[in-house]
Amino acid sequence: MKIGVVGCAGRMGQQLIREITQKQGVTLSGAVERAESPALGKDAGILAGIDALGVEISADREALFKNSDAVIDFTSPENTLHCAAFAAKYNTIHVIGTTGMTEEHKQQLAVYAKETRIIWSANMSIGVNILQGLVEKAAAILDDSYDIEIVEMHHRHKVDAPSGTALMLGEAAARGRGVDFKDHAVLSREGITGAREQGSIGFATLRGGDVIGDHSVIFAAEGERIEITHKSSSRTIYTKGAVRAATWAKDKPAGLYSMKDVLGL
Ligand code: NAD
Repeated sequence: MKIGVVGCAGRMGQQLIREITQKQGVTLSGAVERAESPALGKDAGILAGIDALGVEISADREALFKNSDAVIDFTSPENTLHCAAFAAKYNTIHVIGTTGMTEEHKQQLAVYAKETRIIWSANMSIGVNILQGLVEKAAAILDDSYDIEIVEMHHRHKVDAPSGTALMLGEAAARGRGVDFKDHAVLSREGITGAREQGSIGFATLRGGDVIGDHSVIFAAEGERIEITHKSSSRTIYTKGAVRAATWAKDKPAGLYSMKDVLGL
């Protein structure tokens, strides 16, 4: 299976190149970066810190989608939407890990997914997807005398907040509790906020150092507190999941899928 990488010079992009070259049955079909990127013209393997692969980094997104069975994309929402149009045009599998996508972006993805297979998940790791299931279950059992708070920490370079995974966990909690997420989410707090509103789902964002991704969901009541935590210590948990999603989608019909589908959860 021929897999291409868009955003190949990024933290996730470089790890994807290493992952694809290590895995049997898949080959790297191309590597793409922004038109202004200093990585253009370099060998994708050298950039990722491994041997040369004979794959020159280009800025041609359309050619990448045309020449690949699947393209993996951990970039920015604007770029991801552009890429999804090429995925639809060439019926290429599009695996998307990009976070910070708005509701409109997701609706647009659903339109492109009528033509091809798109797998989008704010977190591609098995552990976080299991955490999501546990959170939904706990929220279904516990009533709103248990305050739900979600705390996340990521490296200092992360550009969106709260993290896509934190939002995904909040949505799981809302689903479990049977309430609308948007009506109950408190994404940040500052100043004289007043007392906590019962039933709200609060978020706190920490940024610093090289933290790959830590998430805790806290259910706090009078007299007890349940905390469910996931900590990433390697980016391979996401890239392994993304490559698995690409191979999983090979014989699937067009549609918008998530990691839950890929993992059969
Ligand atoms: P990064 O900034 O290191 O890398 C992003 C790369 O995309 C950069 O190299 C950038 O030049 C490239 N890019 C942007 N626009 C482009 C365009 N138009 N054409 C080609 N390349 C383009 O960021 P990162 O840490 O690798 O994270 C990337 C995204 O993946 C973020 O949204 C992050 O939150 C998300 N992420 C998701 C998961 C998951 O499991 N779903 C895990 C980790 C990170």
